[in-house]
Amino acid sequence: MAAILSEIEPGDEVIVPAYTFVSTANAFALHGASIIFADSRPDHPGLDEESVERLVTTRTRAIVVMHYAGVACDMDKIMAIAHKYNLIVIEDAAHSVNSFYKGKPLGGIGHFGCFSFHETKNIQCGEGGMLTVNDERYFQRAEIIWEKGTNRVAFSRGEINNYQWIDLGSSFLPSELNAAFLHAQLENLEAIQLQRTKLWHHYYNLFAGSLPNENFQLAVVPEFSTNPGHIFYLIFNTAESMLKCKIALSEQNIMAITHYHALHKSPFGSKYVNRTNPVLMNAERYEATLLRLPLYYELKGSDIERIVDIIIKHQD
Ligand SMILES: *Cc1c(COP(=O)(O)O)cnc(C)c1O
Repeated sequence: MAAILSEIEPGDEVIVPAYTFVSTANAFALHGASIIFADSRPDHPGLDEESVERLVTTRTRAIVVMHYAGVACDMDKIMAIAHKYNLIVIEDAAHSVNSFYKGKPLGGIGHFGCFSFHETKNIQCGEGGMLTVNDERYFQRAEIIWEKGTNRVAFSRGEINNYQWIDLGSSFLPSELNAAFLHAQLENLEAIQLQRTKLWHHYYNLFAGSLPNENFQLAVVPEFSTNPGHIFYLIFNTAESMLKCKIALSEQNIMAITHYHALHKSPFGSKYVNRTNPVLMNAERYEATLLRLPLYYELKGSDIERIVDIIIKHQD
């Protein structure tokens, strides 16, 4: 929906982080956009704001940011670039429910915010999502696209006598069952988030309190962002030490997993790589060295202690 509302057309360029899920790029690729991949920050898997401006050309139409682990990109910097070149900003806020940048909700800063309620997210209903439209110029068209290209929403409000096909659209609505499940999750948003951040900090404090070690670093959360406890990850110095740790955990039946394959090196994504940076150092480094540890609502403090213990013991 964000891509339709942004009027993306073949030949348009859309700047997308390489270290993200395929949906971030697919939405725009489906409308014929050339995907211009941007790197991650050196200290954080999120989009490197500093790398964006040099990717802008006269054909650039939009910048897509992704707030990794629900930790904000520096949106003031992104919005300044967008303003300077008249670009649309879409926030992939799939990890970012109830997370904030300088007090503003993520997904509510760019022109559009895209949330996911996939089963892997903090708030979920199996499959589902939400678009936030933050610029009133798009409100009316968004309603129409959402209702399969008809003006049925205006009809439901009693503003017109019948509804018709008047624009592009598709079936973006969730089923009632999904919506009901999601509603119950949303009612418990605060409790879910509180529990997840508690578990996140339990991991963090245990690692931070253990002797300094040369093999991995902990997540960095900039001062301008909150932390919604979506992902607890370690960044290892080498792919080998990451794999060693992953295997040590797996031998104890603990599932620790890597995350994204950098899109610019994927079989489909690589076709977009041309004049721009063919090497995106940080995205490639996170692909090879980032390991996610178990984090879910029912996880116990004692589980975390055991996991941290195994990891610390395997560092020599
Ligand atoms: C999960 C995820 C998505 C996709 O969500 P769907 O609901 O499966 O479409 C998009 N972007 C990021 C960064 C994600 O983690």
